[in-house]
Amino acid sequence: MRILVTNDDGIESPGLLALVQALRPIATVDVLAPDRNWSAASHQRTIDRPVRVRSTVLADATPALTTDGAPTDCVCLALTGVFPAPPSLVIAGINRGSNVGQDIVYSGTIAAATEAALRGVPGIAVSLADWTSTEFGAAAAFVVELVREVERNGLSTDTIMNVNVPAIPAEQIRGVAVTSLGYRMYGRQLERRSDPFGQPYYWLAASTSTDLAEPGTDLSALQGGFISITPLVVDRTHAPMLGELGRWTFRSRP
Ligand code: MN
Repeated sequence: MRILVTNDDGIESPGLLALVQALRPIATVDVLAPDRNWSAASHQRTIDRPVRVRSTVLADATPALTTDGAPTDCVCLALTGVFPAPPSLVIAGINRGSNVGQDIVYSGTIAAATEAALRGVPGIAVSLADWTSTEFGAAAAFVVELVREVERNGLSTDTIMNVNVPAIPAEQIRGVAVTSLGYRMYGRQLERRSDPFGQPYYWLAASTSTDLAEPGTDLSALQGGFISITPLVVDRTHAPMLGELGRWTFRSRP
């Protein structure tokens, strides 16, 4: 199996290195990641300027490619010929910080996996539920297990797997929970400050979120010490609303 490893934290992220090192024994691994942190960049595509790609090495001397493009640009490049062969699986991570609930709308990690699914290649997003921890072992080990399951069971090409791993010692992880998205909302308060000239500025990087950890959700699994795996699809159609909208009366005719 040929796997593309990318991320949104940037090529120098230790989570990326941990993922590459874990996957190398079981797959051919190509690495292409942004040259800076694109966290919360969502599904950005660079179309107003050229994108550069250059060779580099990871901290363990693994050859890699890096780009000034966004995470989704990385996946696009890999799936359109920047490597000798395209990957059959794209894995983004290991992200620093969880991607649960509404995070998936903002996340560049999820966007990278989504770009793969858009192009007919399954994508896996992997996140460690801590901003500073370097304990990637449990997350990396689970990804290896998941890749083996994908090989055994197959995976439809429009699938995105969103994996979140609690930042606790591996021996304390209680298992794997298949979950739905929970509820997480940021930024209910405006963070307004003043610069030295008395002008206001704002921080939109809210440090706190409102979380509702309903049973069966990713948030609940993480809080309970479980690895969470949530299957996602690209199609965001609001199915119940199709029937409802059909009953509305629109006067315009095509
Ligand atoms: Mn990130």
